[in-house]
Amino acid sequence: MPSRARPKGRGVPSVELLRLGHRAGRDPRLTTHLALVARAFGARRMYLHPPDPAIAERLAAVARRWGGAFEVVGVDDWRRTVREFDGLVVHLTMYGLSLERVAPRLARASHLLVVVGGAKVPPALYGLAGVNVAVGHQPHSEVGAAAVFLDRVRGGVPASEFVGAECTIVPRARGKSVRTARSRSRR
Ligand code: SAM
Repeated sequence: MPSRARPKGRGVPSVELLRLGHRAGRDPRLTTHLALVARAFGARRMYLHPPDPAIAERLAAVARRWGGAFEVVGVDDWRRTVREFDGLVVHLTMYGLSLERVAPRLARASHLLVVVGGAKVPPALYGLAGVNVAVGHQPHSEVGAAAVFLDRVRGGVPASEFVGAECTIVPRARGKSVRTARSRSRR
């Protein structure tokens, strides 16, 4: 999948996400999954509106254990985040242009802000975004849309270890194997 959908461009863009419409108390699991997917697929950061410190702390704990510098940053004014972003703002929506159609434009961008909604998306977002992009024209999920989008534009899941990881998985055909920083330093 990775190289199939990503035409030749400047290389792998850096990606940040903005998750809108998070409902503290109702959405913590879904929003946590979105952040985990964003981190695992190579995004640098996820802005969260409205802020939810519990989710930011949960992802900070994941980064301490599994490495990397991914962070969740709460934002009160999402319009400002979009307006001040220094790159291409991509709103993921089933009503947008197909991912295949906008792939050449995405490949030329070096910095992307990927905006995903929740139950209801503020209508203003369609006009504020640089491009509205559909991952298929059927309703599904912000987690699914973000995963497919990140895989396509970044060319797959980063294979390498996340820097500073306390734990690293050693792939096995069967069973589980995890190498810890402590066991590495003893060798
Ligand atoms: N009725 C909502 C709307 O106005 O878009 C759908 C909300 S959907 C449960 C939550 C989010 O998932 C959307 O805001 C969008 O970011 C993402 N999403 C769902 N289906 C998508 C698709 N086919 N393509 C791109 N993004 C999608």
